[in-house]
Amino acid sequence: MSDFKNPQFADLKEYTPGEQPQDKSYIKLNTNESPFPPSPAVLSAVNSDEVADLRLYSDPESKELKKAIADCYGVKLENVFVSNGSDEILNFSFMLYGKQNGAIFPDITYGFYKVFGDLYSIDYEEKPLKENLTVEVSDYKNTGRFTVLANPNAPTGIALSLNEIEEIIASNPEKIVLIDEAYIDFGGESCYKLIEKYKNLIVCQTFSKSRSMAGARLGFCFADKELIKDLELIKYSTNPYNINRLTQKAGVAAMGENEYYMDNCQKIIEAREYTVKELKALGFEVLPSKANFVFAKHPNLSGNDYYLKLKENGVLVRHFTAERIREFNRITIGSLEQMKIFIEKTKNILGGIEK
Ligand SMILES: *Cc1c(COP(=O)(O)O)cnc(C)c1O
Repeated sequence: MSDFKNPQFADLKEYTPGEQPQDKSYIKLNTNESPFPPSPAVLSAVNSDEVADLRLYSDPESKELKKAIADCYGVKLENVFVSNGSDEILNFSFMLYGKQNGAIFPDITYGFYKVFGDLYSIDYEEKPLKENLTVEVSDYKNTGRFTVLANPNAPTGIALSLNEIEEIIASNPEKIVLIDEAYIDFGGESCYKLIEKYKNLIVCQTFSKSRSMAGARLGFCFADKELIKDLELIKYSTNPYNINRLTQKAGVAAMGENEYYMDNCQKIIEAREYTVKELKALGFEVLPSKANFVFAKHPNLSGNDYYLKLKENGVLVRHFTAERIREFNRITIGSLEQMKIFIEKTKNILGGIEK
């Protein structure tokens, strides 16, 4: 990199996305994408007429899209914000609420929180998860900081209950609590209705995981209208057309077919239960997941070896090198057929090391 850039960024460590191999076709269980295509209405909404209209800017207010989301969730328009992936909401929130009092989040969680903390020179505290990799709820009460929790957490998949989340929100009335619900549709309890009761709450969700549109880059959040205005302020100060035309169309269409997506989530939950049962039978320790992935390790196989052997066998999973979790792999739940192949490959790998 050059010496021209602002020295503030000299030591910035960027977020590392999961591999997106363009060469050979893997069974891709490494970035928590959906194995199912977008719903029929999405496929027809993005047509050649819409492509022709790409010469025009998108609606900076994303009005139709916000309305579709508000209607689907039964909230007011003024309580919805939409973004270019939910990463953008995280970005704006760290920008808005992180600096004043610092931030707090778990030591093992979505890697982007730390990156945004560094990007904005925020003083952040990384609270260690408990020995069993669950969140210690009391660590997040009366924090005096901008509090960020993924629920379910990533990459563990473990969820807090709605009561626990509410206790955290209620104990921090003077500070923003952001609950990142990227995986909430796979069995957790959303806290979005609490935005009516708490003015310090942002509940962030995404079309990337449960709604089969990771490539469209579409996130949304629910919050008190004054917080939505804060987010709009940053949006209009950085990227007013943050949602492109095709994604706005696709998002509206997807919201109109919510049942299709919720049925798919049910299929993924079933494939997850199958995967957990099979992995446990093979001697894996598997954390209790409410997400579209499981976090698992085996006593006779290092996390890195398992990752590499799966890759040789055409299956990509996500391996993290951080000390506390390097014996684990995060395995996205695909279709049941994919998970059956994954289990077969795993059996072969384990058979190989036992010889
Ligand atoms: C995937 C993910 C996101 C962001 O997803 P987008 O594709 O930017 O919407 C946010 N938080 C967590 C915990 C995630 O896993």
